[in-house]
Amino acid sequence: MPVKNRFAELQSEITEWRRDIHENPEILFETHRTSALVAEKLKEFGCDEIVTGIGRTGVVGVIKGKSDSTGKVIGLRADMDALPILEATGLDYASKTDGAMHACGHDGHTAMLLGAAKYLSETRNFDGTVVVIFQPAEEGGGGGREMCEDGMMDRWNIQEVYGMHNWPGKPVGSFGIRAGAFFAATDQFDITLEGLGGHAAMPQKTVDTTVMAAQAVMALQTIASRNADPVDQVVVSVTSFQTSSNAFNVIPQTVQMKGTVRTMSGEMRDLAEKRINEICAGVAATFGGAADVNYIRGYPAMVNHEEQTEFAADVARKVSGDCEHADLVMGGEDFAFMLEERPGAYILVGNGDTAAVHHPEYNFNDEAIPAGCSWWAEIVEQRMPSTI
Ligand SMILES: [Zn+2]
Ligand SMILES: [Zn+2]
Repeated sequence: MPVKNRFAELQSEITEWRRDIHENPEILFETHRTSALVAEKLKEFGCDEIVTGIGRTGVVGVIKGKSDSTGKVIGLRADMDALPILEATGLDYASKTDGAMHACGHDGHTAMLLGAAKYLSETRNFDGTVVVIFQPAEEGGGGGREMCEDGMMDRWNIQEVYGMHNWPGKPVGSFGIRAGAFFAATDQFDITLEGLGGHAAMPQKTVDTTVMAAQAVMALQTIASRNADPVDQVVVSVTSFQTSSNAFNVIPQTVQMKGTVRTMSGEMRDLAEKRINEICAGVAATFGGAADVNYIRGYPAMVNHEEQTEFAADVARKVSGDCEHADLVMGGEDFAFMLEERPGAYILVGNGDTAAVHHPEYNFNDEAIPAGCSWWAEIVEQRMPSTI
């Protein structure tokens, strides 16, 4: 079962949608034009129900199969938001909005899911219901979480969810997936160390926050090297170090540090948070100062469910002939919230030899459209085979 012929036919039309979305990027929850375009297309395809405003600017479309003997409902999800990046592709359909760009290929994900929705509305060759989910604010805003908090899963009785991301460096149209933890939990921290500022020539009259903070930076590295189980992944990076004075002869009163923590399990996430608090408090106390740590939890680790992953890989193999075992990704993914609520799987589709995602010269590869659309359509047709 290679790519579906219908998607080879539809490829130029889907490409037009993709390029139109690319030209008009919208950031976070501001996907007003994109959401309206998605809703309009779903209406044109003859979807049975279209609801906008789920998770602020999210859109949901419902497509009923020819029969519904089991009451099964599958959710297919794409993200719609762009990034605050100045585009440097030089494409004739490059962003018309300075400082906004589809640099993660969500234009492609949206267009491919629209393509699958068009096909599934035309054919309805399945037994059950498909819910197509278009979410805003994947890039740090938690649009997927907001759609879940709006009760989407229960409202449409969604039982399984599937998602996809394009992957530069993988042969175009090929697939990769892994069961279990796949994308990292993405947390951040703000640390303020307080000492006693003073004259740099009279350190005995100060509590030097620079020395204190430097010790803390080094000690934080022992979370990965000494506290974590060596086979479990954790990254702790201090990315900002700001003294309260820039003068050459002043010991600063405070130092502020920021950074990020990436983990693949709840246990490791809890451990990292606990140790950051303990290390900062301990180092500050050693030097006679005080620490204030604000640990902010972002997206949880995205965990693919075993059985759905096996099924998704099987479908991918049939579509493209192969499905690689993918490496862990230390980046985050908002689809994690949907996979916390329902079993499902997230797959990578090759974008070919292009610039990396989040790079100003990145572009989604339209040649991936037939494979991506086919995967979504086959997930539905094989998971809920038609009984007619
Ligand atoms: Zn991204
Ligand atoms: Zn992305």
